Amino acid sequence: MERVRLGDKHFSLYMTAEQIDRAIGELADRINRDYAGTESLLLVGVLNGAYMFAADIARKINIPCRIAFIKVSSYDGLASRGEIAMKLPLCCDVEGCDVILLDEIVETGLTMSWLFGYIESMKPRSVAAATLLYKRCAYKGDREIKYAAVTMAEPLFVVGYGLDYNEEGRTLKDIYILDENGDTNA
Ligand code: 5GP
Ligand code: MG
Repeated sequence: MERVRLGDKHFSLYMTAEQIDRAIGELADRINRDYAGTESLLLVGVLNGAYMFAADIARKINIPCRIAFIKVSSYDGLASRGEIAMKLPLCCDVEGCDVILLDEIVETGLTMSWLFGYIESMKPRSVAAATLLYKRCAYKGDREIKYAAVTMAEPLFVVGYGLDYNEEGRTLKDIYILDENGDTNA
């Protein structure tokens, strides 16, 4: 599909499932190299958006690890509300673990900064961030986003592959970008 319509907006194809798969494969290769020999790797996926990314990258990471999920939200429609709400806490042992936070997209960095603080309070051995999409020009955080598969040239709004527009579009296998003139009645 080249274009999709969700609610009152039009979106155009940005990344195909094959391109996503390749980008995640390259990211997993780096993690496999950097964490080789690690005995306490813990992947933490950020629900809801990262459910596909977490499942796909976890299957390409060949180091024994655990996976757990936390649910937070900051977005409303097309923009961040600027504050984090925790919807589901992390229910697993973190102390002494090498944690990799998995989010499908990093924009301002508010979510990742909050998650770093939350995880660090649980005494892990290390914490790193991995994301499929990185809107580096919108990033205001002070934490390194060490593993970013794709850096977006412009901080445009995207949907699909876990990413929603008002809860629509999450299950699409490809990623779509908001049309410049995306209103259906424009
Ligand atoms: P940040 O806290 O870095 O500003 O934003 C992180 C979260 O906002 C992401 O995990 C995602 O849920 C949401 N988000 C950021 N940019 C986009 C976007 O382009 N599309 C969608 N659907 N969600 C986004
Ligand atoms: Mg997310």
